[in-house]
Amino acid sequence: MLQVVEDIYEAQKTFEKLRQQGRSVGLVPTMGSLHKGHVSLVERARLRCDVVAVSIFVNAIQFNDVNDHRQYPRSTEADLAMLASAGVDFVLLPTDEQMHPKPMNVLITTSGAAELLEGVHRPGHFDGVATVVAKLFIILGPGLAFFGEKDFQQLVVVRRMVSELHFPVEIVGCPTVREPDGLAMSSRNLRLTEADRAKAPIVHRAILAARQAYAAGETSGRGLIAVMYEVLSSVQDLVIDYASVVDPQTLKDVDHAKPDSRLVVAVHLGSVRLIDNSAVGGD
Ligand code: AMP
Repeated sequence: MLQVVEDIYEAQKTFEKLRQQGRSVGLVPTMGSLHKGHVSLVERARLRCDVVAVSIFVNAIQFNDVNDHRQYPRSTEADLAMLASAGVDFVLLPTDEQMHPKPMNVLITTSGAAELLEGVHRPGHFDGVATVVAKLFIILGPGLAFFGEKDFQQLVVVRRMVSELHFPVEIVGCPTVREPDGLAMSSRNLRLTEADRAKAPIVHRAILAARQAYAAGETSGRGLIAVMYEVLSSVQDLVIDYASVVDPQTLKDVDHAKPDSRLVVAVHLGSVRLIDNSAVGGD
């Protein structure tokens, strides 16, 4: 049976008991508006943990753009139905006031890999992510936490935070789930106009073209970037934030790509920002 709890302290007590009983806890942090990508994380958690917890919290402090926050889709009823049928045990639905009590004087500061790519275009984003993820770990005390490779930089930043703050949590990265046309599933896809939705698979096609070029012998970072730009510029009214080839740990640009180097892309289609990535050697 799915148990839904809003109160953070109640959740904290419940999970303390579960851990005392020796039950392993897996956490899937989300911002709701759930889709098959989220469900795939739940399925992986189900395989490895006795108790699967999902948090649904649209974390205002990780949005650098007020409109993006305001327009972020919310569908709690449908989310809970999806989680119940995916076999989730526990959903934490905290309020803003309880999660981030005011005045908010404590924030985790991230740097290094967090300052590149998304960090350039969304200043403060990863400080907000790191802070809420740390709070969720403190509230629920999971032994494992599941994050999607869809947000590859987030995965890198969270792993770094866990290591530096000595959280006793194993971070499990999970592959990106895509629509049949290759578009990475995302809650923000709902906000694409019909015309932009038709253009959106170009992001994955650009990544695939770079992967093919690498397989055919193009190993220079510049060459692979040029391939991605060429594909992306075949679509009108698409604004590129970045299309890069980076080291999978530091996220710094690489001159010579290796199979585990990461192709990372961020674009705007209308008011919607899309990100995607893949290993150069394929996922
Ligand atoms: P979000 O609700 O967008 O914050 O995402 C919650 C978690 O789901 C994050 O760890 C995301 O990386 C992951 N996620 C989102 N979309 C996908 C996807 N298409 N495939 C796999 N994981 C995803």
